Amino acid sequence: MTPEALFHELLGLGLNWEVTESRFEPASGTVFLDIRERPSFWESARCPQDGGPVFCYDHTDVLNWRHLNVFQHRCEISCRLPRGKCRQCGHVFRVRPPWEGLSIHFTKEFEAFALLLMREMPMAKVAEVTQESDMRLWRMLFKHVDGAYSQADFSNVCCVGVDEMGVRKGQHYLSVFADLVAKRVIFATEGHDKETWSVFIQALEAHHGHRHALTQVSMDMSAAYQQGVKENCRNAQVVFDKFHVLANASQRVDQVRRAEVRLGGAEARESLRRSQWLWRKNPENLSPEEQVRLARIQTKNLYTAKAYQMRLVLQDIYRSASASVAKGRFKIWCRWVRWVARLYKAGIFSPMLKVAQMVQDHLAGILAHWRWGLTNAFMEGLNSVFSAVKRKARGYRSTVYLITILYLVAGKLRLPHA
Ligand SMILES: [Zn+2]
Repeated sequence: MTPEALFHELLGLGLNWEVTESRFEPASGTVFLDIRERPSFWESARCPQDGGPVFCYDHTDVLNWRHLNVFQHRCEISCRLPRGKCRQCGHVFRVRPPWEGLSIHFTKEFEAFALLLMREMPMAKVAEVTQESDMRLWRMLFKHVDGAYSQADFSNVCCVGVDEMGVRKGQHYLSVFADLVAKRVIFATEGHDKETWSVFIQALEAHHGHRHALTQVSMDMSAAYQQGVKENCRNAQVVFDKFHVLANASQRVDQVRRAEVRLGGAEARESLRRSQWLWRKNPENLSPEEQVRLARIQTKNLYTAKAYQMRLVLQDIYRSASASVAKGRFKIWCRWVRWVARLYKAGIFSPMLKVAQMVQDHLAGILAHWRWGLTNAFMEGLNSVFSAVKRKARGYRSTVYLITILYLVAGKLRLPHA
């Protein structure tokens, strides 16, 4: 078997194409495979417009497609692609060869391999490993993700969660919408206001979903989102998910800590120095050293420790067996927080009062957790997805890159797109 015949077999070219030459260029370390069509190609070729018989019109200049490596060596397919002309309508067209991927520079197999790498590592790293330009790789990824996304089906979507992904500190936000049943990201867009909901509903319905099919919407307590749901989705029950309620309480604990550092005596300042991470964790997640430190701080009767305790009790309410039990406990919690706040001076607990007010104002949505709790696990995991996405798209500022990676890793799209 000649090397050309071997490569022909390996590439699975069939009867219509042949490898005319295979050669290795040591200078560039590249294996080139020259391919051309066989005469039999024209017997089965048909016009893409009307299916009429075609004949060979001419050939393009030499084109190259990056293929999978041969051992450690870069491999490229070279071909002067034939252009056909229709005998019926006279249409002239470039033949699409069987190896070509969605981008004109890569073969299907190379694209599938690069997509695999993109799921695992940052784009800059993929460019380094494959020795391809990052922009070429991005263009290829856009084609696959756009193609697969345009065919994504949202007709079964009934439980939706929305969360914000901070893009750059204090500047940009992406609103990310997830199908909580299928556990996939279905839409992301810049901004986080009322309009964002209309944009999402348009996307949902462009993919065979329906606004009134939504029965549950999980989100944080932003008024803009609530307004958006109210105006667009009459059947949706709003659920304020546990994750956001507790994250809010944690932020308020930190505000108490900062106020105490500012207002408290030297001892309070010393105890609380660089302690913010302690208060954000649950006791069971602290390292042994952190546990010792927390225990020591807690003997000092600090306001921060009190606020932290409030947060832990709030969290514990989520272990209640039913919404009615939880409702009673939430109410008792609010009364307790208000009572403690009155005992102490100078509004030190006013951040915690805000949590109590929030719980009271949004109680129905918070209690909806007990009805829909199971579907919310995916929302909590989204944050780690966001960090992974940002890592993979590091160095590329436009949100288009972020959204594309988000769809690649969390959209459950059919990739590679054919
Ligand atoms: Zn034709």
